[in-house]
Amino acid sequence: MKTIGLLGGMSWESTVSYYRALNEGVKQALGGLHSARIVMNSVDFADIEALQKSGDWPETARLLSKAAQSVEAGGADFLLIGTNTMHKVAPEIQAAISIPLLHIADATAEKLKADGVRHVGLLGTRYTMEQDFYKGPMRDRYEMDVLVPSDDEQAMIHHIIFEELCLGVIRDESRQRYLKCIDHLHERGAEAIVLGCTEIALLVGPEHTAVPLYDTAQIHAEEAVRLALMDL
Ligand code: GLU
Repeated sequence: MKTIGLLGGMSWESTVSYYRALNEGVKQALGGLHSARIVMNSVDFADIEALQKSGDWPETARLLSKAAQSVEAGGADFLLIGTNTMHKVAPEIQAAISIPLLHIADATAEKLKADGVRHVGLLGTRYTMEQDFYKGPMRDRYEMDVLVPSDDEQAMIHHIIFEELCLGVIRDESRQRYLKCIDHLHERGAEAIVLGCTEIALLVGPEHTAVPLYDTAQIHAEEAVRLALMDL
């Protein structure tokens, strides 16, 4: 089994989901007491969030590249960045290490493609919904049609991620607001919704809506397990 590298802590609430999904995946495949080999560097999210807010992406790239190098030095065979947003600096992180990076948008788009889904709605942080670092590869490399919520809805989604989900606060009222956005995207033609923020599945799951949901943290972790076990 290969060793999975993980940049965690963004936020740690979703790193818990990753840790569970990676270990459950290996247990399911190998049985018994088997568990995932993981080297993780879990950062202080307050540092990262402040840099995101001030737009200092080069400094986030520097911090996360350093963390990624420590993961590589710890023996990881490949790397996951356990957040969609910080894939904004995925090229810089990849350039700083010699192990491959398993990009969360690639893992998600591959699954959508395999399921024959081309029109998706994207929920995530404002950075992920607004900018092109995430939608771009999905559109250009996988010919996905990616719809995003209205400006007001984007602001609400972003606010709930940082003020609630990343702090472990799960509120039914917020779930209803997310479900409304999901319905709007579905009405505009989205066949499925990409939960493009690794905390959203803590709030909304398939039990809450008939619209198919693609949880990026779960998909990313499943793909990592597949890679880790590939040569067995
Ligand atoms: N975990 C979130 C994501 O997947 C948001 C936290 C962050 O800004 O990194 O985008």
